[in-house]
Amino acid sequence: MCYYYKTLKGLTYVSPFFIAFTELFKNTIDMSDASNTTATTEVGKLKLAIQKSGRLHDDSMKLLKECGIDISNGVNKLKAEASNFPLEVYFLRDDDIPQYVEDGVADIGFVGENVVLEKKKKVDLVEKLGFSKCRLSIAVSKGVNYENASFLEGKKIATSYPVIVQDFLDREGIKADIHEISGSVEIAPGIGLAEAICDLVSSGSTLFMNGLKEVETILQSQAILIKNKHLNIEQQQVLDKMLFRIQSVKKAKNNKYVLLNAPNENLEKIISILPGMKSPTVLPLAEKGWSSVHSVLKESEFWDIIEQLKALGAQGILVVPIEKMII
Ligand code: AMP
Repeated sequence: MCYYYKTLKGLTYVSPFFIAFTELFKNTIDMSDASNTTATTEVGKLKLAIQKSGRLHDDSMKLLKECGIDISNGVNKLKAEASNFPLEVYFLRDDDIPQYVEDGVADIGFVGENVVLEKKKKVDLVEKLGFSKCRLSIAVSKGVNYENASFLEGKKIATSYPVIVQDFLDREGIKADIHEISGSVEIAPGIGLAEAICDLVSSGSTLFMNGLKEVETILQSQAILIKNKHLNIEQQQVLDKMLFRIQSVKKAKNNKYVLLNAPNENLEKIISILPGMKSPTVLPLAEKGWSSVHSVLKESEFWDIIEQLKALGAQGILVVPIEKMII
């Protein structure tokens, strides 16, 4: 099995890392291919690819921990095993993860949506993971008078994301010259390499420090869970279990548990604005005329609802984070 990568000059070369990695796990792959049975532990075990080091690594490990999956060994190695879940974790370059998942060397992967769209590999999106949120944006020098995308016609755009940028230009019907570079994209206008750049942005401070302004957002990205298109039934069952845990963790992060004291004369109005998981819990307080109300609130609606509760006489409002949320 050989894998070739395109270099900037259009040459191809075989990645020694890919060959070493493929050899290392050959037995596992061959076993599932050859036996085509469903009973062995190897077949039921899921192989998850995550970033070895970089921005996605820590949050990927944290998510596994929050899902109760214990990866105790091998973080500095290529591969580690969960002690309490049928999962093997491979630590890889995030740019390579879509390829590994398409080929079935890994069954699933945590990777930036931007990388999946750029690589155009045949994998399925399973779930958005809610971390590493960033956007892929076009930026130009601060002094430039940019009105709309037609500014880019005939211009040079420096980027590490030529495929996504070309898709954007095609959608806009614009012809521009894409100059692919692998890093420090933001210096390109300053050194006369390009009139515009397209790069990942989160706070915008790197653009600002390089005298650039953001003029078009062409993609909103975050870490996503992808899967190989040909998982067997056992692997899909393990993935479903893992997904259930991931969704419970995500829901918990997006919600808060609220406890408050409510005057009985406004109890009905207060209950009507507190959705709860089914309906709020209401308990009488020792003090006559008051009740304790417990409910769950969406983080996004939180401040609006708290304002309304206060206006209805709610007191002693306590807000507590939720660790897991099983609905
Ligand atoms: P890196 O470790 O810098 O190679 O980045 C890995 C992935 O993290 C990228 O492919 C994006 O999905 C995401 N990412 C990159 N830059 C940012 C950023 N500024 N803020 C949040 N996520 C980012």
